[in-house]
Amino acid sequence: MSALPFRLKPTGDNESAILCPVCGDDGVHIASVEVDRGGSVLTVPSQTEAILSQRARTARGVVLAIEMWGECGHRFVVRLQFHKGTTFLVVDSRPEVGPAVCHDLWRD
Ligand SMILES: [Zn+2]
Repeated sequence: MSALPFRLKPTGDNESAILCPVCGDDGVHIASVEVDRGGSVLTVPSQTEAILSQRARTARGVVLAIEMWGECGHRFVVRLQFHKGTTFLVVDSRPEVGPAVCHDLWRD
């Protein structure tokens, strides 16, 4: 896992598309969402119902992690973390996988 830039492409008034932080492609999908409240974790994955779990506390504020995948084959996580009055944004890479294992959180 390594930190990557958070890249946006303006698409209209007050709206932007999230770009792949590796190659800049705009075919980016949301795979899952995780909310970590001091080690009490709610995960909403793409293939099953939401999961509640516990783990060791890793931060002093809430951490939101949105796992994303690109049609380009890259995978990454956009993480928002609150700490001492500031919300930080970090993008981490994930190992690439084939498109067969990349699923959308939801779409119609
Ligand atoms: Zn990419």
